Amino acid sequence: MSKILVTGGAGFLGSHLCDRLVGDGHDVLCVDNYFTGSKRNIAHLMGNPMFELLRHDVTFPLYVEVDQIYNLACPASPSHYQHDPVQTTKTSVHGAINMLGLAKRVGARILQASTSEVYGDPQVNPQPEGYWGHVNPVGVRSCYDEGKRCAETLFFDYYRQHDVGIKVMRIFNTYGPRMLANDGRVVSNFIVQALRGEPITIFGDGQQTRSFCYVDDLIEGMVRFMESPHTFTGPVNVGNPADITMVELAESIIELTGTESQLVFKDLPSDDPKQRRPDISLARSELGWEPSVPLGPGLTRTIEYFKEAL
Ligand code: NAD
Ligand code: UDP
Ligand code: UDP
Repeated sequence: MSKILVTGGAGFLGSHLCDRLVGDGHDVLCVDNYFTGSKRNIAHLMGNPMFELLRHDVTFPLYVEVDQIYNLACPASPSHYQHDPVQTTKTSVHGAINMLGLAKRVGARILQASTSEVYGDPQVNPQPEGYWGHVNPVGVRSCYDEGKRCAETLFFDYYRQHDVGIKVMRIFNTYGPRMLANDGRVVSNFIVQALRGEPITIFGDGQQTRSFCYVDDLIEGMVRFMESPHTFTGPVNVGNPADITMVELAESIIELTGTESQLVFKDLPSDDPKQRRPDISLARSELGWEPSVPLGPGLTRTIEYFKEAL
């Protein structure tokens, strides 16, 4: 049994991670400021003696004693991270400094929830970890992209300078139950629009591609990475390499929900990446990990969740 801190633990991925860690018998401290997270996501864990909840903003120092830290705190949806972009950069950068300072003081191992956004609008497809990316430093997505890139820099400097046990995980688009209905990300938007019979909003011509990983697969990859040997720091891509256009995604969701909703085309947001697909060779060889839930069954489970939640 380990004492484990999960920052952003009341969010979408964080709440699934808390479930997994409590289920594995660990003592979990969940820290969140509820910007995009919610107590509803972890309500079922309250009252469990192995679970503890703390309202705290990671841009401020935190003094606790733990063995492992999963650093997930940061809004992930473009509409939310662009709402207060200065706070988004502070969360990534000051949050990383504080959590790395904590890891250094107590000798904890620390995993960073980094992102495929570090590759920006990639000119290489699929993206291997060795690709340095194609990122606009001054655009509307930069608060997130550059914040996460700076956090990666901090992680590797704490590793080289202070021998902190780091794990840098580049998460590609992940979806599943407990995404917010107003999250703004494409899977939840399309499902909610389909279930409400509203038009399905395609940004641009809908020919841009993404690859979607079901949350259970992602959490399995995350835990395997944390438990991997000290020398394997990453960065490592974790995501589903099956890519799809946004029009194809909309058509799948229309079919699975049986909705009457029609597609409507809206302006493409600036700096929206045209393609994104992980090369997961490293995760396969180092973690023995690959996704097991195909898009259809994953979407069906997510649709069932939103039918209840709405
Ligand atoms: P989410 O928005 O549901 O969760 C983020 C959580 O962090 C929320 O509970 C929010 O309240 C909390 N938070 C935000 N700022 C905070 C702060 N300053 N202090 C404390 N808590 C704070 O998003 P998610 O999809 O669960 O993403 C979790 C992590 O994974 C994020 O770091 C995100 O960048 C990363 N990630 C997610 C995806 C994805 O597709 N879901 C892809 C790449 C990276
Ligand atoms: N920090 C923290 N919890 C701790 C230890 C440190 O939040 O248990 C914060 C502390 O506020 C500091 C940051 O982490 O600003 C970086 O710590 P580090 O020891 O690396 O640097 P220093 O304290 O020398 O600036
Ligand atoms: N998108 C869309 N309609 C929506 C929301 C998003 O067509 O209602 C597009 C968006 O422009 C992007 C893709 O779907 O090309 C994925 O968007 P999301 O915000 O989920 O993630 P990210 O752009 O960060 O990969």
